[in-house]
Amino acid sequence: MNEPILTIVVPCFNEEEVLPKTISEMDSFLTALISENLVSNMSKILFVDDGSRDGTWSMIYKESLNNQHIKGLKLSRNVGHQNALLAGLFTAKDASDCVVSIDADLQDDIKVIRDFIEKFNDGYDIVYGVRQGRQTDTFFKRSTAELFYKVMGMMGVNIIFNHADFRLMSKRALDELERFGEANMFLRGIVPLIGFSSTNVYYDRKERLAGETKYPLKKMLSFAFDGITSFSITPIRLVLMIGFLSFLISLAFGAYFIGLKFFGETETGWTSLITSIWLIGGLQLIAIGLIGEYIGKIYKESKRRPKYIIDIDTFNLPLPRHLINAEGKLDEPIGVEIRKLSETN
Ligand code: UDP
Ligand code: MG
Repeated sequence: MNEPILTIVVPCFNEEEVLPKTISEMDSFLTALISENLVSNMSKILFVDDGSRDGTWSMIYKESLNNQHIKGLKLSRNVGHQNALLAGLFTAKDASDCVVSIDADLQDDIKVIRDFIEKFNDGYDIVYGVRQGRQTDTFFKRSTAELFYKVMGMMGVNIIFNHADFRLMSKRALDELERFGEANMFLRGIVPLIGFSSTNVYYDRKERLAGETKYPLKKMLSFAFDGITSFSITPIRLVLMIGFLSFLISLAFGAYFIGLKFFGETETGWTSLITSIWLIGGLQLIAIGLIGEYIGKIYKESKRRPKYIIDIDTFNLPLPRHLINAEGKLDEPIGVEIRKLSETN
């Protein structure tokens, strides 16, 4: 049997602090896999620069000029983790037998990629990396993340508990993934929908090696909310049910107040009146907001905008074509930049 060609896709957003370590660890890991004949010598690591504002891209680029196993993909602007991941997966898929996605901060144990490959050779199309322990995450991160998986489950979204975006997918599975045309690609929800045979590999999650999390609370909440609303209409149903409930309750109250009117004590009405105005008003606002959220989703889907735009791709094109002049040399002024980068090394 021929060894599979593996591509490891690593999305990076402002990761200059951790990148040197990540590059050297991943490179020596891949070299080991190749020398053990577990993967083909044509295997690569593809770093996706998601519009970083620091030195991330020049690090990636410099490395890709010197190391044939390292490639870079530069996106035109920051499009977020999920879309950056997609850009990498779809760029890599045609030249790979299987693709592994992993974060740049080495929180996920790269050694278990060995087990991923084993499972892939056993015939699995999708292998999920599942976190066994999150002892090193802060209590806050751990509990919010676990709450997220629970809520998603309650909303009827089928996702793997404690699995993030550390997974292996076969080329066949990626071809199918590409057919899911939705603008809001919530990968953890979509990948199980592909339906090919899949399995889990368990590992311990480590601490971020350097730099800060790129998922502050605000991004985490919007990620969770997007995940739920792009997969489930349960929230709208919930609001509908609350609406019915409060309607029934108000009927009962109505009867009660009419009773009061006929038997004297009508002066007490103000409190209940003002409370119910606020109650109903609040419920209506929630309902309208929620419906607006779904309509917003429809609006986004209907525009069919590209999810990412590639600026430079050293995976498929060794050098950006538009930078090369008639003599096959790098054009100025960006050429100067690139040459400087390669010379300083
Ligand atoms: N990331 C990205 N674009 C973004 C935010 C994050 O490509 O807009 C990358 C980031 O560089 C990292 C991965 O997504 O490789 C996960 O981010 P992070 O480790 O900060 O998230 P956490 O592990 O704290 O949830
Ligand atoms: Mg992380």
